[in-house]
Amino acid sequence: MKKLPLASQRDVRRWALRTANAHRREFALMLGMFCLATLIGLAGPQLLGRLVDGVVEGGTAARVDLLAVAFVVVLLAQAAARKAARFRARKFGELVLAETREGFVGNALTLPLGTVEAAGTGDLLSRATSDIGRLDHAVRNAAPEILIAVVTVLLTTIAMVVTSPLLAAGLLVALPLLVPVNVWYQRRIPAVMASMLDRWGVLQSIAHETVEGARTVEALGLTERRIRTSRAALGDTIFSERKLRALQMRWLPALEISYVLPAAAMLLLGVLAYSQGWAGLGTITTMLLYTQAMATPLNEALFWLEDLQVALAAARRILGVRPTPQGDAVAEAPRGRDIDVSGVRFGYTADREVLHGIDLRVPRGERLAIVGPSGAGKSTLGRLLAGIAAPTSGSVRIGGTEVSTLADDVLRGEVLLLTQEHHVFSGTLRENLALPARRAGGEWTDDELRAALTSAGAAEWAASLPDGLDTKLGSGAYAVPAALAQQLALARVVLADPHTLVLDEATSLLDTGSARELERSLNSVLEGRTVIAIAHRLHTAAAADRVAVVEGGRITELGSHDTLLAAEGSYARLVAAAS
Ligand code: ATP
Repeated sequence: MKKLPLASQRDVRRWALRTANAHRREFALMLGMFCLATLIGLAGPQLLGRLVDGVVEGGTAARVDLLAVAFVVVLLAQAAARKAARFRARKFGELVLAETREGFVGNALTLPLGTVEAAGTGDLLSRATSDIGRLDHAVRNAAPEILIAVVTVLLTTIAMVVTSPLLAAGLLVALPLLVPVNVWYQRRIPAVMASMLDRWGVLQSIAHETVEGARTVEALGLTERRIRTSRAALGDTIFSERKLRALQMRWLPALEISYVLPAAAMLLLGVLAYSQGWAGLGTITTMLLYTQAMATPLNEALFWLEDLQVALAAARRILGVRPTPQGDAVAEAPRGRDIDVSGVRFGYTADREVLHGIDLRVPRGERLAIVGPSGAGKSTLGRLLAGIAAPTSGSVRIGGTEVSTLADDVLRGEVLLLTQEHHVFSGTLRENLALPARRAGGEWTDDELRAALTSAGAAEWAASLPDGLDTKLGSGAYAVPAALAQQLALARVVLADPHTLVLDEATSLLDTGSARELERSLNSVLEGRTVIAIAHRLHTAAAADRVAVVEGGRITELGSHDTLLAAEGSYARLVAAAS
């Protein structure tokens, strides 16, 4: 399976900088509030240091009371400033998240269908749900707490150096442990995190597919096999979680020791400095309180760090869904309407070619049926003709222009693939219909939508709906039967108005009555267009202008129904077998 790409860590950093820059004002305000809260907090240890000095030097009770009251005021002011800073951080986080979500949906919608299919919908789904959820959780909670810790450590270190450079030197004892342990950890963590999220994505894919296809799983007696597959995926996920925990089990204790060590070193230095008369008791108290003041946010930050790392890995997956560049896409409709397939080879994977050199010319207005045994490559050829995938070599051209280079909205006005899978989106009938872009620009009018419904044979049904075009359809609302879902798809075809239609099993899943009705609607929609029908029922082939027989990834016969019957080759055998 070809997974969707991951953004690099550099891309994530750039995105973070870009986002902070785009919202400079909000970001600066939030940072400013955190700095203000920390600065207010720095006054606390200074006051307590003075208080100790006051007691040692025999100061008055009134002075001690005043310092104690000032200390309480500082605590209250710091709490209020922190609350305001956290509020700002959440607001900023919401802003970033809203943009990220919208950006993700926008980018996902530009992904070529072939890419999403190759990756499996589960991959995209887990990025859109769990990964955005992980980022959401971290942006709301972990990021502000870690920001508090960073600001506190920076400002407190400065305050310590200013208060007593000698005692502040005690901080340095942490470095020989802190630096190598972090370098070791940071080198390993990105790969471990990415693999963990990837495994979670696979697990989610399997669960999703099993639930979606529950009936098929049960009907084919695949339950045990699905359980085994899920267990194996769960085992892989647990293994990757264990790897992460093992890494953290070594990293976290080293980190904790590294911030306890400076307090011990400072105490020893303090004893020395006091005995030599280099520092008073008040200064030593202040410095010890500062190390203590750093410990609480550091502890909090450690608690949240894992969430932030998970969020970074999730951000790589979210930002990996990039907009598909349409820069080089041909935005002008081709002049001609004849289709030319020349020397086309194609494989879904590099190691297995499915089409081995197809040459075919379909003149404008022709009805061509493609027949052949299962797995011969008929649907694959249909997808290449509709520009859903590009050939590995060779070319598929409409009016001389390579189909896969056409911009999406131009392509859909030229050629459309109609299959049996017609999703009804949760939304109104109008929204379900108005998916193709209107060539003249602007919104589709009610009259245009109704005319399309009439061509697709669904006008009566639409008129019977309680709110007409504004009736809500889809899951949880007005249920649309399969035949009508396909008629809605036909109405969309009428709106997109392509000159060529590729039909792949468009009516094969329906019961005979519905299929006959749909075929009537289909015939009116096909009027005046080039039609390439992948024929699963051979009577469709008999009505076509020409029939192409695809076998083993090659066109082995091409001609009218009568000619091919007379030739007594593969087609004649298929017809004989069918009858
Ligand atoms: P059918 O009549 O059963 O639909 P077909 O003639 O339309 O068959 P294709 O669906 O084009 O045949 O498949 C041709 C070959 O490509 C088959 O071997 C199939 O297994 C393989 N194939 C089809 N879709 C994919 C895919 N998404 N990824 C990998 N291989 C694929």
